[in-house]
Amino acid sequence: MSTGSAGKRAAANPFAGCGVVLALVRSGPGTSRAGLVAASHLSRATVSQRLAHLFQAGLVIETDETLPSGGRPARVLRVNPAFGAVLAADIGESSIRIGVTDLEATVLDHHLFACDLRVGPEATLTRIAAESETLLRRVRLDSRKVLGVGVSLPAPVDFSAGKVVGPSIMTGWDEFDICGWLGARLGIEAVADNDVNLLALHEHRSYWRDVDDFFYVKAGTGIGSGIFAGGAVYRGANGAAGDIGHIQLGVEDGPLCRCGKLGCVEARAAGWAIARDLRVLGIEAHDAKDVVALAEQNRPEVVKLLRQSGRVIGEAISDAVSILNPSVIIVGGTLARTGDRLLSGIRELVYQRCLPLATRQLTVALSQADFLGGLRGAAQLAINRSLAPERVDRMLGQWLARRPASRRRQKSEDSRSFV
Ligand SMILES: [Zn+2]
Repeated sequence: MSTGSAGKRAAANPFAGCGVVLALVRSGPGTSRAGLVAASHLSRATVSQRLAHLFQAGLVIETDETLPSGGRPARVLRVNPAFGAVLAADIGESSIRIGVTDLEATVLDHHLFACDLRVGPEATLTRIAAESETLLRRVRLDSRKVLGVGVSLPAPVDFSAGKVVGPSIMTGWDEFDICGWLGARLGIEAVADNDVNLLALHEHRSYWRDVDDFFYVKAGTGIGSGIFAGGAVYRGANGAAGDIGHIQLGVEDGPLCRCGKLGCVEARAAGWAIARDLRVLGIEAHDAKDVVALAEQNRPEVVKLLRQSGRVIGEAISDAVSILNPSVIIVGGTLARTGDRLLSGIRELVYQRCLPLATRQLTVALSQADFLGGLRGAAQLAINRSLAPERVDRMLGQWLARRPASRRRQKSEDSRSFV
């Protein structure tokens, strides 16, 4: 392969710019060669040369699917899901699920174990690392193919530092370098975010990839939200964006929240708050799961409280809709399993409170994710980090060297026919 006109700049990276081409293939506009040329504003020859490197490394493949074009139908380009794998850990309040996925975040295998986060970060992460290695052996995956690890945390996260920021349920974890520790232990790059952002990431990547302005609400034991603005996760200055659970609505005589304030959205609408109100009515309930079970029996008291909970969440969301103008709102979390009983209250308030311009083309729907959503979101985060353009440019030489020469040659010949 030629290094082009790098000339005397001996240190120039011959693979510079390949990462951007890969990013366009991943995000959608580059699923055909013509689309890549249009979206990248590069010449056809440059795109072909960069694609040739990506084919040779085995990172991009041409599928049997075709797209209509002016002449011959164009074959669809995709990231090769089997090029590598990532590890993911979905840390909950009392259990941890770890998994290994391909580069489309399809789960190859996963494993759930009980944990008590109070044992502290080192003991917990040591267990995660050991269980991950067992899982990799079980799926017979060469550890050199594992590109990174993503971690979902049930707490606010300083994303750039990879640390939990208190106050949260993760007592003793504040300021611990989770990503640095786990990355060093496993010998791969680690990245972490809070659970709601990662549920939002999974939902967006799997079902709403073309939607740039997207709002995800998790309604379960607590209430939180994940925001996509202009196609990217919006975290705010300290990673606290989207914390709608502790917006205070009507402080006067409001119920006491877990955070110590009065009248928070969570204290009025979360699973534990509905359970509290049910107990006042003489109905045994302790958490969001109990509420869902009672809703499945169509208990009128529960149906009424769920609708009221939906209205409270809808009131909080309507402010966010006015500020962010999303085109899609997705409601997930344990309470979303009650379906329209919760959703109808949310819709009612959002359409009542927001201006018609903001709601004219607004979709409000239930999450489609299953119990692996958090794990797949963590995997997606690790994939995004592993395939970030600058990292691909840096790693491509090593990845090419790893590939058997016979396969590189064959791919090179295949790719020439595209030019
Ligand atoms: Zn609160």
